[in-house]
Amino acid sequence: MSSSTRDIDDNLDSRYNSFQESVSEYLIRHKSLLDVLSKLHESGARVNRAVVKAVTSCGCVRVNAGKQELPSDISSYWEMKEYMATHLEGSLCEQCREVLEAELGRNLFYIAALCDLFSLSFAEVIEEERKRVAALGVFNLR
Ligand SMILES: [Zn+2]
Repeated sequence: MSSSTRDIDDNLDSRYNSFQESVSEYLIRHKSLLDVLSKLHESGARVNRAVVKAVTSCGCVRVNAGKQELPSDISSYWEMKEYMATHLEGSLCEQCREVLEAELGRNLFYIAALCDLFSLSFAEVIEEERKRVAALGVFNLR
């Protein structure tokens, strides 16, 4: 790894660590594990709700879903990626984008809070997942 890449990683690590520290400092009302778990669940539902509202209330994005259709002569996972549909049409307007970003941020807040309760490092959780994804590559069929 080059030194400039390492510098970027160190900056990211320090931002993730500082994010977790901030979460820990502000986590007073919802200090209980049960509160953190229920708020984490609720924030995930609010992420879903933000996407649904973009479709059904705003209309800036549309869902056009159907069965994934793959040609029978696909020979690689890379080729498969070309044919897999997102079922998403359009792009988020500025308002819907702001709402979704805020809800995703809130979700990350409670993930960091859960890390904090179990003395896990939010930065390490992200780094370990990054390594898993990089190692498994195309075979990581989530
Ligand atoms: Zn919108």
